[in-house]
Amino acid sequence: MKKIAILGSTGSIGTQTVDILPSIEAEVVALTTNRRIGLLEEQARALHPKMVCAFDENAAKELRVKLADTDIEVLTGMDGLIACASESGADIVVTAVVGMVGLLPTLAAIDAGKDIALANKETLVCAGDIVMRRARECGAEIVPVDSEHSAIFQCLTGREGELHKILLTGSGGPFRGWTREQTRDVTPEMAVRHPNWSMGAKISVDSATMMNKGLEFIEAMHLFGVTPDDIQVLIHPESVVHSMVELLDGTVIAQLGVPDMGLPIQYALTYPERKPSRSDRLDFTAYPGGLHFYAPDLEALPCLALAMQCARTGGTAPTVMNAANEVAVHLFLDHKIGYHSIYESVAAAVDAITPAAA
Ligand code: NAD
Ligand code: MG
Repeated sequence: MKKIAILGSTGSIGTQTVDILPSIEAEVVALTTNRRIGLLEEQARALHPKMVCAFDENAAKELRVKLADTDIEVLTGMDGLIACASESGADIVVTAVVGMVGLLPTLAAIDAGKDIALANKETLVCAGDIVMRRARECGAEIVPVDSEHSAIFQCLTGREGELHKILLTGSGGPFRGWTREQTRDVTPEMAVRHPNWSMGAKISVDSATMMNKGLEFIEAMHLFGVTPDDIQVLIHPESVVHSMVELLDGTVIAQLGVPDMGLPIQYALTYPERKPSRSDRLDFTAYPGGLHFYAPDLEALPCLALAMQCARTGGTAPTVMNAANEVAVHLFLDHKIGYHSIYESVAAAVDAITPAAA
């Protein structure tokens, strides 16, 4: 039985990970939240982990009281997250926290020889060179949870040395087809409503600005050891083809499925095996209008263009871009800055630094 630690178990990916547990043979040894302790208590009572962590100190105090009748260890802060990642006895750590707070626990898990089911893309965007190098040195396997990267990973399995190009698909988000001017007055409420996927607030805003596709572009470079020239972004509104690879001879292999994160999460946890799932099945007759693919309009999507530029610059450029984006998205969600200020402030931050080598 595989032992699993779920960092960020109360979020969108975290709860979907808990939901698929009955389909796989697994024992949960650690769970973490920032401050959603009601849900964390429920999960802890159902799954009996060895340890839990509430990142927020006051939340941890309350959680300690709630779980006083159990023998579950309640931790807090970065030390608590790191302990859950590296000292809980896990074989696999699911990194489902949002933001670069995931970096240190991911590195700790790798150092402790754990495999990583990686949802937390910000970790690779801000320090991909370091994380991938450390994983190689420690023999830790990093299996992607992000649907596009899971698709690419599945298409490439058993095809060492055959890759020519990655075709990274994206739905285009809730404002697909809108001009830059039309998005000026977008509110947080509008931005978090995604047509095909239900996700946490931060990644929903990233999907609206298409910064998410930019983060995924950089994530793919690190996961698959390719350069920016090896990746082409394609808008695919139906979200049926989760991504594709073009091989040396021109053959294209795609991975298709319903838009359900349960599938890539389950595959990351059962890899290299594949198990039955409770997910809906893909019905091709449900798309009488066809499946569509086209190039993104980089002028209407400056966050995607900026991320691709930072990917080319390399070094700490993606690190700074990611950090500025995390702050800007939070300010936007708090109604402190407008939608266009997300791009403007991230671009200003990138402009203000001279990137150092990673
Ligand atoms: P979410 O906001 O729904 O959940 C985030 C989780 O992290 C929660 O458990 C929260 O309590 C915890 N958390 C938040 N801030 C924290 C902090 N400062 N310290 C410790 N814990 C903290 O986010 P999500 O949508 O589940 O996304 C999680 C990660 O997975 C992100 O990196 C996202 O880009 C990636 N991802 C998500 C999806 C999706 O469908 N939701 C798809 C692909 C990739
Ligand atoms: Mg994705």
